[in-house]
Amino acid sequence: MSLRVAVVGSGPAGSSAAETLVKAGIETYLFERKLDNAKPCGGAIPLCMVDEFDLPPSIIDRRVRKMKMISPSNIEVNIGETLKDDEYIGMCRREVMDGFMRDRAASLGAKLINGTVYALDLPKSSNQPYTLHYTEHREDGLVGDNKSLQVDLVIGADGANSRVAKAIDAGDYNYAIAFQERIRLPEDKMAYYEDLAEMYVGNDVSPDFYAWVFPKYDHVAVGTGTMRVNQAKIKQLQAGIRARAAKRLEGGEIIKVEAHPIPEHPRPRRVVGRVALVGDAAGTVTKSSGEGIYFAAKSARMCAETIVEFSNGGQRIPTEDDLKVYLKRWDKQYGMTYKVLDLLQTVFYRSDATREAFVEMCSDIDVQKLTFDSYLYKTVVPANPLVQMKITAKTVGSLIRGHALSPTRSW
Ligand SMILES: Cc1cc2nc3c(=O)[nH]c(=O)nc-3n(C[C@H](O)[C@H](O)[C@H](O)COP(=O)(O)OP(=O)(O)OC[C@H]3O[C@@H](n4cnc5c(N)ncnc54)[C@H](O)[C@@H]3O)c2cc1C
Repeated sequence: MSLRVAVVGSGPAGSSAAETLVKAGIETYLFERKLDNAKPCGGAIPLCMVDEFDLPPSIIDRRVRKMKMISPSNIEVNIGETLKDDEYIGMCRREVMDGFMRDRAASLGAKLINGTVYALDLPKSSNQPYTLHYTEHREDGLVGDNKSLQVDLVIGADGANSRVAKAIDAGDYNYAIAFQERIRLPEDKMAYYEDLAEMYVGNDVSPDFYAWVFPKYDHVAVGTGTMRVNQAKIKQLQAGIRARAAKRLEGGEIIKVEAHPIPEHPRPRRVVGRVALVGDAAGTVTKSSGEGIYFAAKSARMCAETIVEFSNGGQRIPTEDDLKVYLKRWDKQYGMTYKVLDLLQTVFYRSDATREAFVEMCSDIDVQKLTFDSYLYKTVVPANPLVQMKITAKTVGSLIRGHALSPTRSW
């Protein structure tokens, strides 16, 4: 037999899965409803993604080496001094990166189908195939015919509003709404953001997240997110970040406005039968940083590697238990990262007092090094015990100075 796998969605997750599968000689169908999709996204990626996913320099529009953390009272802390000469945060345009990864998977042999998957029929028994129903899109942009395809395995990489997740009753997750404006700045203002990104915290910009100004190719992305999903509220928070960054954005012209959900937790069921969810469809974004691109690509690769392994390179159909090995491996490798970032969000995004403490803490060189290392390389680098004690003492000190530990203080 020869295993047939359908990957629904070709963002960073879907294309990574498809690439791993075709490289192992597995018959792979990669569905994408919009080939020029520009996913609403800040586009920041860690350095390790460039190497691990073999991204060419042309994918990186800007190499950010300086980050400003800005507190509710507008205290600015510069971070980035600990970076080595060749270290940076990559800023990408999603349409460029997604296009590159999708084309690479297709050139390696994935059968790319420009279509919207609208239904998935589940098999009645373990040896029957899954049937995907999709509407094909034509090159002239018009809607084409409705078609169907039978496969042995399905990977749901179709993002936060995943249809595949619905079809398998994967359950809901909490999500935040992120809102972003793309603003083209006058040249002198843009020069300021050449290799600099800004993160703002405060109740005025988000009650439970942060707001950002990220430099893109020829403009900046200015946005915010919140779990208090409500249209009036998100507009008010966006006005908050625009006001905080007003001087730096002066003379800017809004060229695009976008909004999209960001999952806040994994779905209750990420593997059901012979269907596995990866990336945003599974809920792999980290709390507190809202980072999702690397984790989408990585979860998908890990899922595909598990499929290659348990199918003996495509000679056998993996079972639900086989697919669940991907989840075990994932949770083992990243479970702690998710817990730590979850905790950080709970402790530090609680009030303006705790946010002040957070920004103060970020001025510490040891904290910066630890944070950057774990972000850039996705390894929880254990600091030596002395440094760890110093960081803990500084954290508590910052919280006390900001009266953040006092239960009576309200902001
Ligand atoms: C405003 C905003 C800012 C963000 N900033 C950052 C950031 O700076 N850095 C970071 O790491 N993360 C960021 N994220 C998170 C990041 O965008 C996601 O985690 C990431 O895109 C997840 O990748 P994915 O491949 O799982 O899903 P997606 O990127 O959502 O890709 C899903 C793909 O599936 C396709 N699709 C969907 N349904 C169907 C269907 N039925 N049939 C066929 N195709 C379908 C879509 O067209 C899309 O191409 C941000 C998110 C938002 C909303």
